[in-house]
Amino acid sequence: MLRLFVTPPLAPSVLIEATENQAHYLGTVMRRSPGDDIHLFNGHDGEWSARIETLGRGKGLFRVDRLLRPQAGDTDVWLAFALLKRDTTDLVVQKATELGVAALLPVVTERTNAARVNEDRLRAIAVEAAEQSERMTVPMIQPPRKLADVLTFWPADRPLFAALERTDAPPIHPVPGPCGLLIGPEGGFGPRDYALLERAPTLRPVGLGPRILRAETAAIAGLALLQATGWR
Ligand code: SAM
Repeated sequence: MLRLFVTPPLAPSVLIEATENQAHYLGTVMRRSPGDDIHLFNGHDGEWSARIETLGRGKGLFRVDRLLRPQAGDTDVWLAFALLKRDTTDLVVQKATELGVAALLPVVTERTNAARVNEDRLRAIAVEAAEQSERMTVPMIQPPRKLADVLTFWPADRPLFAALERTDAPPIHPVPGPCGLLIGPEGGFGPRDYALLERAPTLRPVGLGPRILRAETAAIAGLALLQATGWR
């Protein structure tokens, strides 16, 4: 069943306008027609069945039918990751969304080359991954911020697991409740980053094994481990 993320409120009989991309996807890519059923979610109102009422070039209307799943509580893990090359950043956003993160925080570190992202593009990737993975929310994506700022404004009640290679940091032991995972850039954290990390009160250094993982692998492995003792 095709699932689409929409922004308007969902309730019985409500009519929802398709975006241009959704109309193109449904009509041209997936060959759907008026009368076909789809599922809709908006991050607040649960998942609903809906019927395609009209579908034309770049336009369409959906009629909401009935609630299929009430809104579920969300995984409360934030992923703070040093910005990577474009394709790798895309991959991290896609996989982290599948793995249920509530928020993505791109970080600028000493050895990060990029300082900007195309937020619309990252949001589109997250929406598609949420649709595909049957989650009922789309993670919040923050604009890139310097590591110092991310650490300064990090909430005191949210432990931050910092993945540090080549240290004797212990493995991840998931905690109940909110937490975060911090992954460094391709070149690793630099000396100024380490000085900041040492002063961060919520920081919990963790290791991900004896091998040096690419940053994107470390992000995926760390998030999977945070969920290893139950669905968060
Ligand atoms: N600069 C390093 C080097 O010289 O090979 C590699 C950095 S690694 C490619 C990128 C990030 O992935 C690191 O900053 C760290 O956050 C994470 N990472 C990779 N392997 C790890 C491991 N075994 N344990 C913990 N974190 C790891």
